[in-house]
Amino acid sequence: MTELCDLTGAELSAKLASGAVSAVEVLESSLGRADAIDDRVGAFLTRTPELALERAEELDVYRATGAPLSPVAGIPTALKDVFTTNGVRTTCASLILENYVPPYDSTAWARLSGDGAVLVGKTNCDEFAMGSSNENSAFGPVHNPWDPTRVPGGSSGGSAAAVTAGEAVWALGTDTGGSVRQPASLCGVVGLKPTYGLISRYGLIAFASSLDTVGTLTRSVRDAATLLSTLGGKDPRDATSLDGDRLDYTAGLDDGVSGLRIGVVAEASGEGVEPGVRAAVGAAVDRLAALGADIAEAHLPHAEYALSAYYLIAPSECSSNLARYDGVRYGFRAGGAHADSIAMMSETRGQGFGAEVKRRVMLGTYALSAGYYEAYYGQAQKVRTLIIRDYETAFEGFDMLVSPTSPTTAFPIGAKVDDPMAMYLNDIFTIPANLSGMPAISVPCGTDAQGLPVGLQLTAPVLGERTLLRAASALEADLGLDLRPPVLA
Ligand code: GLN
Repeated sequence: MTELCDLTGAELSAKLASGAVSAVEVLESSLGRADAIDDRVGAFLTRTPELALERAEELDVYRATGAPLSPVAGIPTALKDVFTTNGVRTTCASLILENYVPPYDSTAWARLSGDGAVLVGKTNCDEFAMGSSNENSAFGPVHNPWDPTRVPGGSSGGSAAAVTAGEAVWALGTDTGGSVRQPASLCGVVGLKPTYGLISRYGLIAFASSLDTVGTLTRSVRDAATLLSTLGGKDPRDATSLDGDRLDYTAGLDDGVSGLRIGVVAEASGEGVEPGVRAAVGAAVDRLAALGADIAEAHLPHAEYALSAYYLIAPSECSSNLARYDGVRYGFRAGGAHADSIAMMSETRGQGFGAEVKRRVMLGTYALSAGYYEAYYGQAQKVRTLIIRDYETAFEGFDMLVSPTSPTTAFPIGAKVDDPMAMYLNDIFTIPANLSGMPAISVPCGTDAQGLPVGLQLTAPVLGERTLLRAASALEADLGLDLRPPVLA
């Protein structure tokens, strides 16, 4: 049976506006779902039911005055645990921040909360957002609601799982190399990574600053557009935030794909793509053609170097960003007597960080060190420029590009933990949009032979969100998938 917590944000917002339901009823439905299933899913690191109830009650009082409501008002919302939330613990799924309670809100959360969204909790993720399976969390894995023996994807795995299972109506994640789109794909929800700089990173705990992007996990494309409309727009607190006011991204959402030129990325259809993924994406591309899009083959000749460039740039930036966790200023400090401050810092970092974070800090420190900088970091930046040029050339002939989001569907927990290279390959199709800053979206497009969801990725030129959302919405409407995971049965 469909409950309130299974509806989309747009459906709930209409019910709240008409008075058919109260914000407290909507909230209780989401809280009840999380009470019933989160021990099997493990989406949350911190739940905030009391705070949420206070907010929902306030909102119902406000609603009773008949004042106009924002479309995010009263919607149960989850945040990946890398967004600072004033007074609510924010861990980055790391022991080093296990007890960190920020004294301020991230801009992304401040904007949603200012418009009346209701925080139901902070979601599990890979430690400092480094990973593709959520298995790098210091607090244990998240289980995919489609099959609890499988990963939900990562690093925003808890956010994707919470939305899939009805524990939150929507959630924020972050996407540095695919961490919103890949879990969205593996869980059967919509994942939007907007243009770099469109959503402020203020209060987003940094991983790789030139790649980090706030993104959304939702049950519909319309909800992604609604959230972006609230989250976008200049923020003076983030120097990389783009100029411009908040825009309404729901405008033109139903305009269809007729006449849009869509390029199928040839480099993303070859080996390594599971047959079930290839079949579902191929069938969806046929539907786009049937809806009137012009489909042809496109090329990103340097895409094959994207993964290598990413795994130099991201660890380099990570090694510099994570230098601040030294036991002096924030979070955990190793106990016992220390010979000197260097010993204190190295014991703190040795005990506080997990294996993947240490691997990246070491790789990044090495790549940035004198004598190697040009050979590694410098070369990777040149590859990044070539990839940007690939996109610019492709977008001379196409309005957007299409590919699978991920080469595979959800894989078993434990299957890739001992093989970093196999894990890194999950993001082979998502990383190019981070290196180039282009907006991209993952939309569910079907299931494989095992009944696991498959995601299709659309990528548009910088600030092409409107076209991107319009095409995604047309595909979603045409496919009419009803993706309800078995955990809800
Ligand atoms: N899986 C990629 C990584 O491990 C991407 C992570 C992300 O987007 N935060 O770095």
